[in-house]
Amino acid sequence: MARGYYQHRDRLQAVLKNTALLLLAVLAVLPLVTVFAAQDTAQQQLASAHIDGCHAPSFPLGPVYRIPLRVHLGESGRDPLEFKDILDEINHIWLSQAGIFFVMQVVLDDEPLEQGMDIWFMPTLQGIPGLNGYFQSAHDIQVRDNPILKPAEHPARHPAARTAAHECGHGLSLPHRQDSDDNLMRSKTSGWQLNAQEIRDARKAAAMMALPDAECSGDAVARVVQH
Ligand SMILES: [Zn+2]
Repeated sequence: MARGYYQHRDRLQAVLKNTALLLLAVLAVLPLVTVFAAQDTAQQQLASAHIDGCHAPSFPLGPVYRIPLRVHLGESGRDPLEFKDILDEINHIWLSQAGIFFVMQVVLDDEPLEQGMDIWFMPTLQGIPGLNGYFQSAHDIQVRDNPILKPAEHPARHPAARTAAHECGHGLSLPHRQDSDDNLMRSKTSGWQLNAQEIRDARKAAAMMALPDAECSGDAVARVVQH
């Protein structure tokens, strides 16, 4: 009886997690759906959800580079819905400063992408309690569910977003820069700032990984940049 109850409960939890994940996946593509507001068709919205849609809005430094990013939450201990704000902040950090936008796909499995980057969120990394983030390659990035970061004068809102954005910085060729707690590329702090050289270097790397440009209306541009 008890066993049946727990099996049922586990199934129910799995269903709830999948439902939450589906909702999250929809939420994760909302900024892109917004992009298509001016000329939207069901087909274009579908394309955005599958990472191969439209769009390269302008940015003061040149085009916005769109990088596919598959987010693996199957091993995470956090509620999938909490990731909506976390994923939004990763894009805020990179889009507002460097004109780089991660086109995210949220999954529960471990299947990596062939282009772009893959990131896994999990409760602990490599069995090392103090390890916040780990970058081995663009398709082997791990971030602890709740990183412990030192304060910065201008901190990111979500430590998990800051650490993920930092590891994505490594994926965009950036090394560590330890001269201020406000730096995104400083180890173990809450800062999220990039300097001009880092923006140039990251954009150079992003240009090599970016999805192809497609024509979109200018009206949608401002809505992305304002995010
Ligand atoms: Zn690092």
